[in-house]
Amino acid sequence: MNELIEYRITDIKTETNNTRTFFLKPCTIHYSYKAGQFITFEFDFKINKVNRSYSISSSPDTDQQISITVKRVLNGEVTNWLFTKAKIGDVLSGSPAQGKFTIDYTPGNKRDIFLIAAGSGITALYSILKSVLKHEPGSNVVLVYSNSSIETTIFYNDIKVLGIQHPNLTIEWLFSDNPNILRARLGNFILEEIMNRHLKYDKNNALIYTCGPEDFMLMVQISSLTNGYNKNNIRKEIYDVTPAEVEKKYWDEQNRQVTFIKNNIATKIEVPYNVSLLDAALNNGISISNSCKAGKCGTCVCRLKQGKVWMHYNEVLMDSEIENGEILTCTGHPITDDVIIEIK
Ligand SMILES: Cc1cc2nc3c(=O)[nH]c(=O)nc-3n(C[C@H](O)[C@H](O)[C@H](O)COP(=O)(O)OP(=O)(O)OC[C@H]3O[C@@H](n4cnc5c(N)ncnc54)[C@H](O)[C@@H]3O)c2cc1C
Repeated sequence: MNELIEYRITDIKTETNNTRTFFLKPCTIHYSYKAGQFITFEFDFKINKVNRSYSISSSPDTDQQISITVKRVLNGEVTNWLFTKAKIGDVLSGSPAQGKFTIDYTPGNKRDIFLIAAGSGITALYSILKSVLKHEPGSNVVLVYSNSSIETTIFYNDIKVLGIQHPNLTIEWLFSDNPNILRARLGNFILEEIMNRHLKYDKNNALIYTCGPEDFMLMVQISSLTNGYNKNNIRKEIYDVTPAEVEKKYWDEQNRQVTFIKNNIATKIEVPYNVSLLDAALNNGISISNSCKAGKCGTCVCRLKQGKVWMHYNEVLMDSEIENGEILTCTGHPITDDVIIEIK
């Protein structure tokens, strides 16, 4: 990882029987983050070093302290360490806040904002929810939140309080233990009905942000698209960064010369056809922040100044962002010889 920041654990709160919130104090003077971003931590377990990302569950607009909320995973290396060994006062090493699962707010905006979460996918959306309620009191905010039961629902009471405090927030709880099938698992039919019932403004401007298991987010995406929502306004945050099974196929089999510009210094390197731009840069001592290396998190986004780049996988960038020159370097390959990339 690039630049590492030390985060001191200042408090630990139990949310549900397998979820805890860790309150963190960054040991740096200038620290900023946007609602919806995440931190990638590096855990040095002596025998091995592992990286894990956690969404920031606090909001920069409403919370004093930064926090992450972690669900314990059966046999999971890091979550079990966090639950059994981490204590107040310990210091974790992590990246600055990163990620593109954020919203640009405009006070006075009147639009529909659908936040659709399942299980621990609420963490990033909880941060966004608090910021959106603060910045856009005129927008119609709908939280659709699926869980197995009330007991397993992270932030259940806090979210209920937000619902009471903010008349522009509607909460649709779904519990899979509910005997009423129409209030149990979220599927296409229920989602369409909920969205149609709550839509208040121009459908084309409605934002749809989702986080949860991949099949859940795929259902949200397909359902929203088939119901006429604007594909440029649908965003998802992926927690499972196992590389997708993509066919090992390249645009062509030509190595290319690529110029990387960082802090106004240009470095030209050869990028083999079967190596990503990110790995080629790292192999040549050019550092680019990165996390998933699978086209799913957006940490390695750079700006294409010239030439053409083909991405073999992209779950992050929207068409409009690609048109504006943004590229994922972890799945990007140069397909012309004149590529110039600016590292942010
Ligand atoms: C952008 C982003 C944001 C995220 N935000 C959050 C968040 O807010 N909250 C949260 O709880 N999580 C979040 N995650 C997920 C988090 O990063 C971890 O993946 C998660 O906590 C599991 O880590 P772990 O080390 O405990 O589990 P791992 O050790 O990675 O194990 C995960 C699973 O794989 C299995 N496994 C591991 N190794 C093997 C093996 N060799 N063979 C077979 N099975 C194996 C384990 O048994 C376990 O079931 C986020 C991920 C991303 C990418």
